[in-house]
Amino acid sequence: MRFIVDSMLGDVARWLRMLGYDTLYSKNYEDWEILRIAAKDDRVIITRDLGLFRRARKRGLKAVYIEPSDMSDMLASIAKRTGIELNFKPNRTRCPYCNAELEVITKAEALSFVPPSVGAKYDMFWRCPKCGKVFWQGNHWRTINSILESAKMKVGR
Ligand SMILES: [Zn+2]
Repeated sequence: MRFIVDSMLGDVARWLRMLGYDTLYSKNYEDWEILRIAAKDDRVIITRDLGLFRRARKRGLKAVYIEPSDMSDMLASIAKRTGIELNFKPNRTRCPYCNAELEVITKAEALSFVPPSVGAKYDMFWRCPKCGKVFWQGNHWRTINSILESAKMKVGR
């Protein structure tokens, strides 16, 4: 399943990418571009714009309308309507910034990109082949997990 997210929902796009879903997002998308790309690529539109949602449905496109809310609520409503899995998979995650699939790198490889203190403290690292950013499961990971757990509870599965 692939997605295209409207310009108001950049944080949702980053989460979907982290969960491994191919997700297009740009601050500059116009509605007509979103509709055209969704039709061409068979992408599900995620939007908080009721007008865009209605136009998408009228054209027979898959679309999910979400009310702005906290992230676990938004992820839960996307999961209820599309069946996405709310589990982080280390081998299937994407760059939150550019949507490329991340490569798992070893701690030894990571040490040439991250400060020694980070290298000493963490064990899982990824690198984006497109923008070169390096990611690791840092302190924010607990928050990410609790948001996912809470979203799963709201979905009820
Ligand atoms: Zn990247």
